[in-house]
Amino acid sequence: MVIQIAKHSGFCYGVKRAIQMLDGIILENNGAKNVYTLGPIIHNRQVTEYYEEKGVKVIENLDDFMDNRIDGDNLIVRSHGAAKSIYDEAAKIGFKLFDATCPYVKKIQKTVSSYHLKGYNIIIVGDRTHPEVIGINGWCDESAQIFDSLEQVEGLLPSSNPYCIVAQTTFKLSLWEEMVAAFEAKLSNCVIHNTICLATEERQNACIELSKNVDIMVVIGGKHSSNTRKLAEICRKNATTIHIETKDDLVDLSGFKCDARVGIAAGASTPDWIVESVILKIENEGEVLV
Ligand code: SF4
Repeated sequence: MVIQIAKHSGFCYGVKRAIQMLDGIILENNGAKNVYTLGPIIHNRQVTEYYEEKGVKVIENLDDFMDNRIDGDNLIVRSHGAAKSIYDEAAKIGFKLFDATCPYVKKIQKTVSSYHLKGYNIIIVGDRTHPEVIGINGWCDESAQIFDSLEQVEGLLPSSNPYCIVAQTTFKLSLWEEMVAAFEAKLSNCVIHNTICLATEERQNACIELSKNVDIMVVIGGKHSSNTRKLAEICRKNATTIHIETKDDLVDLSGFKCDARVGIAAGASTPDWIVESVILKIENEGEVLV
């Protein structure tokens, strides 16, 4: 059996950085007491459970927490980032704040903030319910227009102020390009920043490439993660594909014969230890069926 891992797989740069920061804070504090994350540190159930067991607490907003906090509590902003008001409020109430906002997201926040101060209208191309987009909007006083379709661009009303247009880092590149063409046709006064992060695109392309050359693909990541589901969908076009969260979901090993070519891909929030345990299970139990 040959097992190959997709060229781009598992934790992206921003997620790795956030996890390293959280580990560092726990180490420095001799434990996770008084360590809080604003929202789950990453979108992976097993990872959040691991940190919850260590004592890390997840809070959804600062208001919920006001009555219980102690001076010097540590608050970590995750890789998606947060609105400017969160930083201001956290400083006011005495949190020690650690900023794990991915530098790619930070750059968008700074861009939006500086153009907003110069009087530009801000447009964010992305999902209005996603925490990253909500956070970016919080750097221009929540004034952004948020679009995720060509139809919305068609309906855009012209303004005498210029526009600054940015994208959610995980927005689909092909749709962004179509929307940019529509913005350019409609607006004479806009600056456009392509702020899409290539991590998503790279993972998808790696899945296309690998799935064409194997018999069976195992895609590892949250069942509710849209990015991981997308990877599985891509792989299904070329090979038998199994989408699992952990090795325990891998019940039927009948496809893992000794001559099988097996491909492994993991979403950007899937840790290496889960990937390694899946590979170990395939190696140990798959061969028994030969
Ligand atoms: S997907 Fe890109 S922007 Fe988002 S956290 Fe990962 S590296 Fe950063």
